[in-house]
Amino acid sequence: MDLLVAKFGGTSVGDGSRIKKAAQSVVNEYMKGNQIVVVVSAVNKSTDELIGLSDDAVGAGLTDKQRAGIVAMGELTSVRLFSAAIESLGVKSEYIDPYHELWPVITDSNSLEAKIDFKSTEIKMEGIKTLLNQGIIPVICGFLGKGPLGEITTLGRGGSDVSAFLIGHCLEANEVIIVTDVDGVMSTDPNKIEDAKLLDEISVEEMRDLATHGAQVLHPHALTYKDPLINAKIINFAHGDLTSKGTRIVGPYEGDLLKGVSLYKNPISLIAVVGEGMIKKSGLFAGLSGCLAKEDINIFGISAAQNSMSAFVNKSDSNKAYHLLHQFVVETDVLSSLSLGRDTAMITFFSPDIIEKPGIISDITEPLRKSEINIVEIISSQTAIVLFVDWKDGEKAYELIKEVLE
Ligand code: ASP
Ligand code: MG
Repeated sequence: MDLLVAKFGGTSVGDGSRIKKAAQSVVNEYMKGNQIVVVVSAVNKSTDELIGLSDDAVGAGLTDKQRAGIVAMGELTSVRLFSAAIESLGVKSEYIDPYHELWPVITDSNSLEAKIDFKSTEIKMEGIKTLLNQGIIPVICGFLGKGPLGEITTLGRGGSDVSAFLIGHCLEANEVIIVTDVDGVMSTDPNKIEDAKLLDEISVEEMRDLATHGAQVLHPHALTYKDPLINAKIINFAHGDLTSKGTRIVGPYEGDLLKGVSLYKNPISLIAVVGEGMIKKSGLFAGLSGCLAKEDINIFGISAAQNSMSAFVNKSDSNKAYHLLHQFVVETDVLSSLSLGRDTAMITFFSPDIIEKPGIISDITEPLRKSEINIVEIISSQTAIVLFVDWKDGEKAYELIKEVLE
């Protein structure tokens, strides 16, 4: 017996016949002996319509609390519809909205972008387990939360993906299934490149990067709650079948994503290449990585400035890398010399917030400055910051960064 969490997005419950089809797909899995929790978002564009209505009727005078109460009507409606559709197929179901005594998702008082109170939510989830054990299919509003005064809050636009993974995590589900209007994750936007391919599998890390870069398939924060042991996939509602393949989301593999920081276990060596006019010369990155790739040497990070490039490789590979790169420097006219630098410790910090949070780099580096830990190099992307410090400072820096995050 498996415990499944199936989340249905707006289009997959876009009209009556789609709701019926979705309910049938849920009942089919239930009949096989599985337990199943349904998470639904608002029917089609109803959230947008509710926002439009309130803007037209009230405009700027609308308080956040009022707005949350109004947009919630989308999910308040869809859970009732979905649950009734399940019952019409002869299976017991109960809709769970924030007014229900078993409502599990507890948040702070921020009405529109509420923060989840994970501990309270985990405790409240026991009530959902009781329903499941009675053979009832709970249908829970996605996107919504309940604040400290019992008021309705929302998790932000697109937040029902977050609800699904949060609920899956707290219930220790076997699988979280995101039912949407595409077949899964594509290699790129099929509207822009025609032969975009459907991916069978994608890692949590890749998926988070994709989501923060604007891919609409999944809310970028949803995977914060993806446990390595929980299966997850994205499938198309059109199949009407929760066992459809779609794209599997696997991992996370490294680090603890809830904590978000990890220290690599081995020392990493820095090799710096310098030259003149490097910025105007194409193919330098390719040349550098190509000669290391031929010997199967992995590069942990690479950075470039006007007149230099540095590559970070395992210390155990560094001598070989040094000799290979020396050959490359000699053969390439804009490059003049290289050096094998010190041993460093690599600390990686993942967070979907990096892209949107000003000052996040200084939050992390400030405690290092205070402890006089020198940062050899820092590389940042939209979802990760990688810091290289002297090997001897690695443990200390790692502990300091963990403290900041706590
Ligand atoms: N109904 C909400 C929205 O449109 C939440 C969701 O669909 O995930 O943003
Ligand atoms: Mg969505």
